[in-house]
Amino acid sequence: MNYSKISLLAVNQRKELGSQIPLSTFRLLRLHGMQEIFGESTGPALYMVGKSIGKTVEVKTIEEFLELVKELKIGIPSIVYRSEKLIIIKVLECMTCSGLPVTGELFCNFESGFIAGAVEKILGRKAKSTQTKSCSHGDEYCQFEVEIF
Ligand SMILES: [Zn+2]
Repeated sequence: MNYSKISLLAVNQRKELGSQIPLSTFRLLRLHGMQEIFGESTGPALYMVGKSIGKTVEVKTIEEFLELVKELKIGIPSIVYRSEKLIIIKVLECMTCSGLPVTGELFCNFESGFIAGAVEKILGRKAKSTQTKSCSHGDEYCQFEVEIF
C-alpha cells in the first residue's frame, strides 16, 4: 500500500471516534515511540518523512499551505519574513512542542520537513528548512527558516 498517494485530508474515516486523537496519544508515538525505534536517527528520519509528505500537498500557494497546516492542526502558522531565497515561518501551538518543558532541544523535524517539501512543490525549487525556535527550547513558538535554492 502506498499512503503517499492518499490525500492527507481524505484520511478521516472513523465512524464513532472521528478524525481527532488526543495530543498526548500523538506525542507518545512521536516523542517516545519514534525515539525508541530510531534513536539518534529520529530527527533526520522525521524530516525526510515530513518532506516526502509535504511534496504531496495539493495547494498552489504558500498562503494556502499555511491554511492547510492550521486545518491539519499541526499548528497556527504565519509568515515572519519572505524573500526570493528565504521564507521564515512561525508556528504557534505546534503539535509537537507546544507546552513541553524546556529541554533546550529543537526536535520538530517532521514539521520542518513538511514545510520544506511543500515549499519545494509550490515553488518548483529546492528548499531546506531549519528549525530556529521551539517551545522546548524556551521560545514562545516554533519557527522555521526555509532556504530556497
Ligand atoms: Zn514545534
